[in-house]
Amino acid sequence: MVCREALDRLSPFLDDELDPLVSRDVSQHLETCPSCAAAFARQRDVSATLRRDLEYHRAPELLRARILRDARAAARRAEGAPSGAVAHPGRWVGVAAAVMAVFGGAWQTASLPLTAGRDAVIREAVSGHVRSLMASHLTDVASTDQHTVKPWFAGKLDFSPPVTDFAAAGYPLVGGRLDYLQGRSVAALVYQRRKHVINVFVWPDAHEAGLSAATRQGFHVIVEKHAGMAYCLVSDLNPDELAAFARMLTGAPPPPG
Ligand SMILES: [Zn+2]
Repeated sequence: MVCREALDRLSPFLDDELDPLVSRDVSQHLETCPSCAAAFARQRDVSATLRRDLEYHRAPELLRARILRDARAAARRAEGAPSGAVAHPGRWVGVAAAVMAVFGGAWQTASLPLTAGRDAVIREAVSGHVRSLMASHLTDVASTDQHTVKPWFAGKLDFSPPVTDFAAAGYPLVGGRLDYLQGRSVAALVYQRRKHVINVFVWPDAHEAGLSAATRQGFHVIVEKHAGMAYCLVSDLNPDELAAFARMLTGAPPPPG
């Protein structure tokens, strides 16, 4: 790796957003190149200073939760939906994300309060994600065609997961596989964003619609429930793009068939 390439990647390297191989190359370059290492140190200092100042101004967790709740209620009213129903979760997720951005809370810290059960789901989903990357067992059915992937699940699961290809939006479907979460079989849909793999675990969930975001072991996780389905997205993709994808995924109409 030459200096130009290393310097171009300092910011994602610092945010741990590079895929592992590139990250290793940058790391090796920094060890051998004093001028790039100095540039990296400067960038790290600036970033640490920013984070410290933001920390100082960060809204308390409770206030954040209240703002989220109010934003959700406002979105419901704006949609004219009956209370208790979430007409367009994408709308209030956007509002909530904007509100949290104002408070300087990074997505990593901007999670709704997690119940113990939710936390366990996130932990298991991250394990499933890591396993799928390490064991070369990313997909049981490798296909970019939603009309191939969806029927593949039939007979293997007691529900039919919504499967949509989002290639046109830059999130192509790669395939699917069976996975296991919380003692039950779930659908794992695999998508890609540039070089980042996104695992989407899907299972039926009758509980109230809701959203959680968290970071575990360096992976970003979003759990969103909508229209009777729970979606758990895990990736090393940056949180903003992952959140955008979650909105696309859960707001999409079910594919025909
Ligand atoms: Zn260099």
